[in-house]
Amino acid sequence: MTHVSEHGRPTGYDVIVVGNGALGSSAAVELARRGASVALVGPRHRPYAASTAAGAMLGCFGEVTTTLVENTYGQTKFALDLRAKDLWPEWLESISGGLSDGRDILTANGTTVLLNSVGTAGIDTDNFHAIRATLEKHDEPYETVDPSDVGWLDPDPNSRPLQALHIPGEHAVDSGRLLLRLEQTARDLGVTLIDGHAASVLGDDGQSRGVVLEDGTSLTSGQVLLAGGVGTQTLVDSVPGLGDCIPRLVAGYGVSAVVTTQDGTQPESVIRTPNRAFACGLHIVPRGAGRVYVGATNIITPQPMADPVMGDLLFLLECAHRQTRRNLWSSAVSGINVGNRPISLDGFPLLGETPLRGLWMMTGTYRDGLFLSPLLAKEFAARMLGGEPELDLEPFAPERAPLGGMSREAVLDTTVEHTLATGYEQHWNVPTGWQEFFDVGLKPIYAQWAEELDPDFTPQPDLLAAARMEPQIALWLKTYYDNCRARFGKPGPPAADSVGDHVRRAAELLTATRVTTPRADALTLAAHVLPGEDPDLDAPMSAEDAQGFWMLVGRRAGREPLEYLTGRARLFDLELAVGAGVRVPHTRTEAMVTEALARCGSDHPRVVDLYTGSGAVALAVGALRPAAVVTGVDVCATALDWAKRNAEGLKDRVEAELDFVRGDIAAPDLLSGLDGTVDLVTAAPPNVPDHVHLIPELATHQPAGAIRSGWDGLDAVRSVAATAARLLTGGGVLAIEHYDALADAVIEIVRAAGFEAVTSHTDREGHPRFVIARRAA
Ligand SMILES: Cc1cc2nc3c(=O)[nH]c(=O)nc-3n(C[C@H](O)[C@H](O)[C@H](O)COP(=O)(O)OP(=O)(O)OC[C@H]3O[C@@H](n4cnc5c(N)ncnc54)[C@H](O)[C@@H]3O)c2cc1C
Repeated sequence: MTHVSEHGRPTGYDVIVVGNGALGSSAAVELARRGASVALVGPRHRPYAASTAAGAMLGCFGEVTTTLVENTYGQTKFALDLRAKDLWPEWLESISGGLSDGRDILTANGTTVLLNSVGTAGIDTDNFHAIRATLEKHDEPYETVDPSDVGWLDPDPNSRPLQALHIPGEHAVDSGRLLLRLEQTARDLGVTLIDGHAASVLGDDGQSRGVVLEDGTSLTSGQVLLAGGVGTQTLVDSVPGLGDCIPRLVAGYGVSAVVTTQDGTQPESVIRTPNRAFACGLHIVPRGAGRVYVGATNIITPQPMADPVMGDLLFLLECAHRQTRRNLWSSAVSGINVGNRPISLDGFPLLGETPLRGLWMMTGTYRDGLFLSPLLAKEFAARMLGGEPELDLEPFAPERAPLGGMSREAVLDTTVEHTLATGYEQHWNVPTGWQEFFDVGLKPIYAQWAEELDPDFTPQPDLLAAARMEPQIALWLKTYYDNCRARFGKPGPPAADSVGDHVRRAAELLTATRVTTPRADALTLAAHVLPGEDPDLDAPMSAEDAQGFWMLVGRRAGREPLEYLTGRARLFDLELAVGAGVRVPHTRTEAMVTEALARCGSDHPRVVDLYTGSGAVALAVGALRPAAVVTGVDVCATALDWAKRNAEGLKDRVEAELDFVRGDIAAPDLLSGLDGTVDLVTAAPPNVPDHVHLIPELATHQPAGAIRSGWDGLDAVRSVAATAARLLTGGGVLAIEHYDALADAVIEIVRAAGFEAVTSHTDREGHPRFVIARRAA
């Protein structure tokens, strides 16, 4: 029922919608369709609007990120996206006023998502995989495409695409045409379009009564929908106390451009990267007649921006020509848009009725509000006119304690990753070593900053980073958190981080400390600490397990050998105990053992293993030749203790007769009672030349006497050759491991000691690694 003022202008409506962007306009259309008298208030030229600058991708899957799918509230939001995607064909037709079937508003046929070399593994690669996994989970058709087959694409070789996938059902619309059609449809449905600005909300007795426009006119209604994007905040602020516990809206200021290509071409589909570097990824949207939309930057600012900052514009255009098509550099810029995405201080949308009855909020939609507009319009129209809710909007009710869902640790890690990703996207030129310096240095800075903001609540990564640059945002966050603590109490203890979270962070730390297999090591340590063989990465890690895990990760970061930390090493399928004072046996020695036994014909050989260390080779020989008699020799008492412990531990597996003897391998009378009787001598002796630089695992933590062997690395080889020549029977076999670069020298030493049939062998990686020879008869 519309009321008319004394000036003849209607002032009373069933519903007043404030804001004429995609959301407000769609809601006005839907409300009017259901028979309500509606006023749609908003300046005709839509200052600061997000909708006019939007690429208007209908991005359901292309917008997926790891943080979205891992977060409970992100999943609730994604459930809305899934519902929205199916509404578009019918929605476009319904606002086309019989002029068309609506498809003429579409500007792109499908979306191609690119993973290119500009992004980082922790963001782009992970988000790309998250997109693919989500497509599969929801049976959404997609194709993996060879990036070189993506038409129109011609990036700079430094920014080349590595992978691509095409989503045929994900299109884009022309936001300008969409807004025009919405406006026309609203007018046709009798909506009163008011070219003005609402200055305040009217309300009393806990009930909204309408709005007052900037020119002083009052519009009355018991139902007011605030859908003014970032501008909505002024209206919330106009009601004293209303916004205390409603997360404030700030602006995700973004620049986009429309370029007319030099050769008049455009791609058929949207071409985009995954979301990255706190922004929505680089995207190109065809706009017809050789024009392409290029978007978009995203910088969170306390107030909306009207003009583009020069650096942002330059950055955007440089990214577009480098990453998508080089001839954009000589194309004409036909238009530059600035928009302000409405983002709330907890990063999630504000959808529902406020504590002032009849005052509703439909905003905070940040990056994809245009895509959600038909869905939200229908839902709000139903709810505001007394219908049954269909969607789960409960978590997004405007008045709320901050929605989190990410641990502080995870927020800090993501903030650091995205901050650095902006550098990579800018092709920064930082000396290699400095990048990890930043990585490690930034985290404590952000950790301290998060603590300074609030001890209990942590903002989402992009807001944490923004608040550091914008004191006003920091102040708003602090105030909101204080208000929420006073109203709702402290948040409960944070959910324990999952095993996967701990493993990811540990892998990052190990990468920074140059461990060669960081993720595999982190997984091994997690498996070591946790019960069971194969830890569930999604399960929470208890505080006690986490403490044990991080103690080991810290030692691994100090480059202690992984095997010292787990206390275990393997040779074949034998599990050996190892620890301080003994060299860690390496699986590459298996090749030598296999070859040596193949050459040694006897089923019950007499075997001597020199430099036996942990006893690994002696035990392996004993396990593979059960009738053998094996003596392991080492000069080091600690090593022999490990060897004996291993023999004891493996006595059920190793049937051969075994003993371990302490002795100097070079001594002329070592095992002299066996002279000329031994069938096989094996040795994995110390063999690294003293001057060779070694990784800390070997250089610092393992016994030098078991690793290094004189200036040329051959001292132990000479001793082994001489002792083996004495011990072996005629035709007996010598197998000796050596430093890979020294094969020729070892062959010479072995020959000179009286061996024949000397052959050199490589390990599994193809490096010369051991020599086999026969004692001359
Ligand atoms: C560069 C860029 C690219 C984007 N790309 C996409 C995309 O590809 N897909 C997608 O789905 N989303 C995208 N978005 C996000 C999307 O644009 C927003 O989430 C969505 O458009 C918000 O719509 P809205 O109607 O709530 O707000 P807006 O579009 O901001 O409109 C709000 C309107 O309300 C008016 N207003 C404000 N205050 C008042 C007041 N007090 N009285 C009266 N009127 C008022 C404003 O002038 C404005 O016209 C992008 C945003 C940007 C900036």
